[in-house]
Amino acid sequence: MLDQWQQTTNWQPTASQIHQFQQFYDLINVANHSLNLTRILEPEAFWEKHLWDSLQPIVTADLSGAVIDLGTGGGFPGIPIAIIRPDWAVTVVDSTAKKINFIQSSLTALQLNNVQTLVGRAETLNQDRAHRQQYQLVTVRAVANAVICAGYALPFLALGGTAILYRGQWTTQEKVDLGQAAKRWGGEIIDVNAFQTPLTQGIRHCIYLRKVSNTPGLFTKNAPH
Ligand code: SAH
Repeated sequence: MLDQWQQTTNWQPTASQIHQFQQFYDLINVANHSLNLTRILEPEAFWEKHLWDSLQPIVTADLSGAVIDLGTGGGFPGIPIAIIRPDWAVTVVDSTAKKINFIQSSLTALQLNNVQTLVGRAETLNQDRAHRQQYQLVTVRAVANAVICAGYALPFLALGGTAILYRGQWTTQEKVDLGQAAKRWGGEIIDVNAFQTPLTQGIRHCIYLRKVSNTPGLFTKNAPH
């Protein structure tokens, strides 16, 4: 898929990164017999809907520091991000221990030493001093509606940090609701990037939030209305 990467992202993985993608795919295939990690296993669909989709907003991202992926499931987008950005410290979080156990047990095979794993709920961890306002980038794909995701993500961000919400369809109403809600956690919407996936032209939107002021008080689980 080198040509596809080049044409659609103006970036190419190295040979060793391609090897890591292949290994990760193999590990997921095997683990999927006992764990429900993904329904997307056909090789081209895996490339498009997991690898490409995870990395499209990342390949050109200009930042450094700590990254946290909330509700990572089988490791998306966190593990592909860690593979292409060995200089970033990536933490992957999921509330389901068996998914995190799978990722933890895959790290050695993938030769990834820049990944930390955490079992827990995002809305609990983001109140913990060890994690609150400690990250430069938060990613959230397919976890909950955008307002809930913002409430999970924004408390983790250091001032000036960015959250990327990976969405499919996106409506004006969602943007209004998200913009209002984000303020409560010290965030604002800085960009909405609409694009299509390269093989099946699936609709995608990446919503970029910036942490502009400290998240006040303690996070309450329920999203504001
Ligand atoms: N991000 C992955 C997985 C999406 S499925 C992907 O895009 O493929 C949603 C995942 O979020 C599940 O693995 C679920 O266990 C986890 N999850 C849901 N709510 C959560 C919460 N509040 N905190 C942490 N993980 C959560």
